[in-house]
Amino acid sequence: MTRVLVVEDDPQLVRALKINLQARRYEVQAAGTGAEALRLAAARKPDVIVLDLGLPDMDGVDVIKAVRGWSGVPILVLSARHTSEEKVRALDAGADDYVSKPFSMDELLARLRAATRRESAPVQADRVPVVTTEDFTVDLAAKKVRRGERTVRLTPTEWHLLELLVTHPGHLVSRRKLLLEVWGPTYSENTNYLRVYMAQLRRKLEPNPAQPRYLITEAGMGYRFEP
Ligand code: CA
Repeated sequence: MTRVLVVEDDPQLVRALKINLQARRYEVQAAGTGAEALRLAAARKPDVIVLDLGLPDMDGVDVIKAVRGWSGVPILVLSARHTSEEKVRALDAGADDYVSKPFSMDELLARLRAATRRESAPVQADRVPVVTTEDFTVDLAAKKVRRGERTVRLTPTEWHLLELLVTHPGHLVSRRKLLLEVWGPTYSENTNYLRVYMAQLRRKLEPNPAQPRYLITEAGMGYRFEP
């Protein structure tokens, strides 16, 4: 049985979600605040989280960031604030998908099925502890990088960047997401930091730093690790 944590402060919507989800054999837990959501997410380890962004005690985006600190559980965001900026903020923080209110129950259920299907697809740090390429290996558990017999020394910032990229092999990771995760929200526009640190990483890891083979720039968008 798929366990869903519904985080929503509107009791009527919680009731409607519970009835519909339980009818489709989902096991439902509900939290009305961000604090309760974090407690239940940690204690009950749900298979998927449906999260309202407008909560009484916390910004839903902060709930996403907190959960992403320790879990890759799929998060489907609900929000009445459907500006694209809001959507990007939630996705950058680690949400998997987004449904704008008001939504049809059929749409929500379809997105929920898709989110739980995808769950097995992305590479999680705890499932693939060592990423291997022809030129270097990244041991995610030990936080060590080796080139042949040699250990490559990385600064904590370089490590954090590399870790984000190699845990999403073949996928674009947006500049905004990298800046948010590594430097925090105040620095989300400082793309020059990224250029500097990516250059350092390439010097340490790429056979030819001027023509990156592994750490690829997607112009204007972000970076991609190509294993
Ligand atoms: Ca709300």
